[in-house]
Amino acid sequence: MNIMRRKRVLVTGGAGFIGAHLCARLLRDGCEVVCVDNFFTGTRDNVRPLLDHPHFEVLRHDITHPLFVEPDEIYNLACPASPIHYQHDPVQTVKTNIIGAINMLGLAKRTRAKILQASTSEVYGDPLEHPQPESYWGNVNPIGPRSCYDEGKRCAETLFFDYHRQHGLNIKVARIFNTYGPLMHPNDGRVVSNFIVQSLLGKDITVFGDGTQTRSFCYVDDLVEGLVRLMDSRDGFTGPVNLGNPVEFTMLELADKVIGLTGTKSVVRFDPLPQDDPRQRKPDISLAERELGWKPQEPLQEGLVKTVDYFRKLLSEIEHPP
Ligand code: NAD
Ligand code: UDP
Repeated sequence: MNIMRRKRVLVTGGAGFIGAHLCARLLRDGCEVVCVDNFFTGTRDNVRPLLDHPHFEVLRHDITHPLFVEPDEIYNLACPASPIHYQHDPVQTVKTNIIGAINMLGLAKRTRAKILQASTSEVYGDPLEHPQPESYWGNVNPIGPRSCYDEGKRCAETLFFDYHRQHGLNIKVARIFNTYGPLMHPNDGRVVSNFIVQSLLGKDITVFGDGTQTRSFCYVDDLVEGLVRLMDSRDGFTGPVNLGNPVEFTMLELADKVIGLTGTKSVVRFDPLPQDDPRQRKPDISLAERELGWKPQEPLQEGLVKTVDYFRKLLSEIEHPP
């Protein structure tokens, strides 16, 4: 970084779950942060503690429209991540992934900024190889209800690599696996937030299918550390690189853990499995370990304790507003 001025970092989707943690981390690191968000799934509340920071700015903007700012680095996180939200307006999800990526890549090209894409384990679809290394090309349905997200993210990766090859852009691509923690939206629909909120409200815990499908859950602080390390990685290292926790759980095991932690009287209810729901998912993180010296530190049990505390407080504030 030029010692005469702070590094200027643009975070798209900065008012979302991961984005808000990333903005806070970058401010702690001494960067000037511009958070861009259309508030589709993100909220001002997520970044409220940062609003008075002298080096923080929030812009309400949809990245499907061009943006004129002058960053040194761009983290492109804008995109709803939860199946219920990205399927709510699938055409907009595709536009965010593709037109949004083209706009952010165009911005990076003009300003010569380094640009990081928040890609996803969903590029592997319902994987036939397990665990998933970055060399696996995936098993994705191109026309199903998840395709707006999966194929949108796959095409965004294509765009990143074409801008890199064609225009020499300095790109970094992270394939993020299921991440959880405080600031997830209570109605987000993802499994960790659903199970915790259902338990705290004494409602049935909705396990989809028979609950034997697996996921690997990464605590958000670990993930943010991985993103920052990737942005700072050596010149020429583009990824894609898997960022996720390689410890795998079934959804029934997750439900048991949440029931144990919350002491709830809620019971498990089995609901139908959504179409194209991947059977199993677990990252091979050897590339991240080798290139970034990164691996997750937070065990699921401890991350869940912090997440349960967060939702307990949030729900009590909703019930008894200050
Ligand atoms: P999130 O839904 O909480 O955050 C996404 C943010 O992007 C929200 O603030 C939303 O309002 C904003 N946004 C959406 N469309 C936009 C647009 N067109 N213009 C501007 N802002 C827009 O989700 P998250 O969990 O924080 O995910 C962040 C990124 O990480 C996403 O790109 C997601 O695909 C990726 N990712 C997340 C996970 C995970 O488990 N959380 C896993 C894989 C990949
Ligand atoms: N799931 C579940 N109950 C819920 C929400 C999700 O059993 O209330 C399951 C879902 O079918 C999937 C897993 O949990 O198998 C993870 O779902 P999530 O939406 O969190 O993420 P993704 O499917 O994108 O990995």
